[in-house]
Amino acid sequence: MDYNLTPDQRSMLDALAQSLATFDDAYWLDCDTRGVFPERFFEAMAAGGWLGIALPEQYGGSGLGVTEAALMMLEVARCGGMSAASAIHMNIFGPRSLLANGSQQQCERWLPDIVAGRVRMCFAVTEPNTGLDTTRLQTRAVRDGEHYVVNGRKVWTSTAQIADKIMLIARTAERDEEKPANGLSLFFTDLDRGAIDVRVIDKMGRKAVDTNELFIDNFMIPAADLVGREGEGFKYLLHSLNPERILIAAEAVGIGLSALARASRYACEREVFERPIGMNQAIQHPLAAGWARLHAARLMLLQAASLYDAGKPCGVEANAAKYLAAEAGMDVCRQAVATLGGMGYAREFHVERLYREIMIPYLAPVSQQLALCYVAERALGLPKSY
Ligand SMILES: Cc1cc2nc3c(=O)[nH]c(=O)nc-3n(C[C@H](O)[C@H](O)[C@H](O)COP(=O)(O)OP(=O)(O)OC[C@H]3O[C@@H](n4cnc5c(N)ncnc54)[C@H](O)[C@@H]3O)c2cc1C
Repeated sequence: MDYNLTPDQRSMLDALAQSLATFDDAYWLDCDTRGVFPERFFEAMAAGGWLGIALPEQYGGSGLGVTEAALMMLEVARCGGMSAASAIHMNIFGPRSLLANGSQQQCERWLPDIVAGRVRMCFAVTEPNTGLDTTRLQTRAVRDGEHYVVNGRKVWTSTAQIADKIMLIARTAERDEEKPANGLSLFFTDLDRGAIDVRVIDKMGRKAVDTNELFIDNFMIPAADLVGREGEGFKYLLHSLNPERILIAAEAVGIGLSALARASRYACEREVFERPIGMNQAIQHPLAAGWARLHAARLMLLQAASLYDAGKPCGVEANAAKYLAAEAGMDVCRQAVATLGGMGYAREFHVERLYREIMIPYLAPVSQQLALCYVAERALGLPKSY
């Protein structure tokens, strides 16, 4: 067992550091304040080949694993928080469902454009009336000749303001109480704004990356844009859920490490009662405990990623990593604001932005409670509780 980075992973992170160096705090603060998508950052990531890190070389990717993608997203989040991570997150994990379940022809048609950043995608799963109970989602897709006609509503669809493509899950058959996951189908298709009314949600943080309500009215999807087989979409979705939890855990650790570095620097510089505030153990200990917890979460997410890359089950580890990283990140961000005192509340010191953004890995893509429900059931053998 070796938790050290390989020489290749180290040089990958060196190259990434160079790409990220041009995006400073002022850039991210400006994106957040004005609510504009970090276009220059997205283009730099595409030009550097980072969007295809975990996709095969035959589609323009680098052919690396989710482990490398997680290491990358940790650094991306350390640089620009969720404003940076969410700008590219979908391009990194979303295509895994297409790769695993789409036809060769579909992969050739879709993946090179995603890798090159020519196509931006959004992922529409969550619905207003079903929440985390995904098998009860109500958006319907009805086959009509060479098309499916889709009607329904989605909510919390991130990047739908700028996306060209939508990955959408909808019900194509009535819910079977015995097999509730059957009858859901996955589509990857053009986002037709004539049939989908995309309305932005005014939210707590990450103003640079939009999140939306979708009102879908007779949206025509070509049958050729159905991924895999009709009715098996939920199974396909599961394929990308563990990578998503691993990446979001990495992002939470990255945000936490950024907040921790800012708090530690401030604690060394700020003098009150004629000494640096960092000399007080009441300031030191929570920061040191945060360091320990963030690094423990990092190990768990790397374990989940290495299992995934080895083709082994990793659901317990991926959920545990997302839980641990979000808890540690949340505590560290709160402590960072407290360490900076009043200045922690000032936007120019950046920790308030990280505190607002760490709430996202806490809530999504699965809540802390549901992550624990999974661990309780699968690791401890407790009865399913939901
Ligand atoms: C900024 C942001 C971006 C997002 N982006 C996307 C996106 O791009 N695409 C997408 O599809 N979704 C997206 N989401 C949605 C996100 O994945 C959901 O918010 C999340 O899955 C929770 O669903 P919900 O909000 O409907 O919560 P609900 O299902 O309504 O749950 C509310 C609360 O009740 C708790 N709860 C419910 N049932 C149980 C139970 N049995 N036991 C214990 N606790 C329970 C939950 O844990 C949660 O705390 C995003 C959300 C946010 C905030």
